[in-house]
Order: sequence, then structure tokens, then C-alpha cells
Amino acid sequence: MPDRYAVIGNPVAHSKSPQIHAEFARQTGQDLVYERLLAPADAFIATANAYHAGGGRGLNVTLPFKGEAYGYAGRLSESAHAAQAVNTLKFEGDAIVGDNTDGAGLVRDLVRNLGCAVAGARVLLLGAGGAARGVIRPLLEQQPTQLVIANRTLAKAQLLAQSFSGGLEADTYAALAGRQFDLVVNATSASLAGELPPLPPGVFARGALAYDMMYGMGETPFLAFARAEGAATCADGLGMLVEQAAESFFIWRGVRPDTAPVLKLLRHATA
Ligand code: NDP
Repeated sequence: MPDRYAVIGNPVAHSKSPQIHAEFARQTGQDLVYERLLAPADAFIATANAYHAGGGRGLNVTLPFKGEAYGYAGRLSESAHAAQAVNTLKFEGDAIVGDNTDGAGLVRDLVRNLGCAVAGARVLLLGAGGAARGVIRPLLEQQPTQLVIANRTLAKAQLLAQSFSGGLEADTYAALAGRQFDLVVNATSASLAGELPPLPPGVFARGALAYDMMYGMGETPFLAFARAEGAATCADGLGMLVEQAAESFFIWRGVRPDTAPVLKLLRHATA
């Protein structure tokens, strides 16, 4: 019997994780199946427990359950602890171990796939929700010279900045006028609604990279704005998706898949 894994969420039909993990398994010769698991909105724990009891070895957790999975895990990695959210569960006998690979996935996409030097860079992070929180620690580990969090609701950005040591700054969008950044990461959900975070003009430094965590929607208003403002590189979040999946695969199987061909395959499929 192959080992069983799944992505749990609601909705979950759109998830690309089964395709990504099937490719990883084929490439590395791992004997596993990877399924979709739709949990009712009020039954994440019951659904995860049933999967565990049925012999499941691990779960990826997607919206809206990452916070609940954080409470569900009996043991947490440092990344999960910092993110206060879990996107990867590993069942080890009776133990439930929670991890968060989103931030590592972003940094790997930035540094390895896009050739972006986060070390020494002036970094602007847009948004103060779960996605933003999850990437702060891995970004700080790269030692940027600045990490500024901008959010529509300033109080949320301030709370987030205070919960990390390392000189994080919180600002409104208006306060960014006249400042420049080498890397701007959109971790808001504005792109989902076809909206642009209210960035002032001129925030992209020469050679800047603009990164939208959103993927699969073509050029988002943020990426269109970045291109018009002269950002040197504009990237969506598909690479982050594949890289966070690879980190999960490594946690479960101890084998690191080659992400490049899988990313190429997905790009081709969504083109
Ligand atoms: P949350 O709902 O937790 O947070 C949403 C954030 O977006 C808040 O900071 C909110 O500001 C801000 N926001 C929403 N609309 C606008 C707008 N029109 N203008 C400016 N700011 C706005 O969402 P998450 O943090 O969970 O997710 C954010 C995005 O990241 C999603 O689109 C998700 O798809 C993506 N994501 C991608 C991943 C990948 O692998 N590529 C992984 C994880 C997430 P305020 O506080 O003022 O309301």
C-alpha cells in the first residue's frame, strides 16, 4: 500500500497540490498517493483525525484551516510558531507535528529561482494578514537592511511588527511616499478582488523585484502597476506554491525534489 497524503481545505477542488506532489513522487520514485480532502467548515479536526486514523501520513492545510491546524498540532516547528499557522502536518504514530513551509517557499523562490538578493535589500511587505505573518521570519533570516510592513489598517501592521524582534517598521501606504525598495512583496488579498493596494508612485528602486503571492490570475493590478513603475522583475506566487510544496515533501519523505521541471509544467498548464 502506498503512503497516503492529502491537502485539506474548503474549498479544495481548485488546489494544484495533488498535481505537484504526484510529479515530485514520480520524479523521486517515492511510493505515495496524494489526495484532496474537503473538510466541512466546522469539522476540520474531525476530518483530520479520521484521515490520521485511516492511515494517512500527512496533510497540507489550506484556507481556511491554517490557524486551526496550529492549535491541532501537538508539536510545532519554529516556523509554525512564528507564523502562528500550520500548512504542513506530519503524523508520526500518535504524534501530530505542525510546520509552516510558506515562508521558506517564498524565500527559495526569490533567492534560487529569481536570483534576488534579499540579504542587504530594502524590503517592503504589503499586508498584515496570515500570509504576511508567515513570511516575516524567513525574510528576516536573510538579513535585509530594512523590512517595512505596510497595511491599510495600520494598527494590524504595528501589532505584527511588534511581535517580531529585528527592527521591523510598520507604516500606512501614504507614509511610503518618497521611499524606495529593492523588493516589494504583495501579501494582501487585493489581487483576488482585482484591486491594487494604494501604493504611492516611486516605491520601486532601480532593479527592483515586484512579487505578488497571488497566482493563476494573469497579470494582477499590482504587477501591472509595478511594470509601469519600472520594476525590473515582476513575479507571481506560483513559484512560492511549488517551493512550499517541495519543503513539505522534504519534511514527509526526507527527499528534496527538483522544483524547476514542475514549475515549468504548471506555467505551461496555466499559460
Ligand atoms: P488575510 O485575509 O489574512 O489578509 C488580507 C490582507 O490583505 C490584510 O492585510 C488586508 O488589509 C489586505 N487587503 C485586502 N484587500 C486590500 C486592498 N484592496 N488594498 C490593500 N490591502 C488589502 O489573507 P492572507 O494573508 O491569508 O492571504 C493573502 C494572499 O496571499 C491571498 O491572496 C493568498 O492567495 C496569498 N497566498 C499565496 C500563497 C502561495 O503559495 N503563493 C500562500 C499563502 C497565501 P486590512 O488588514 O486593512 O484589511
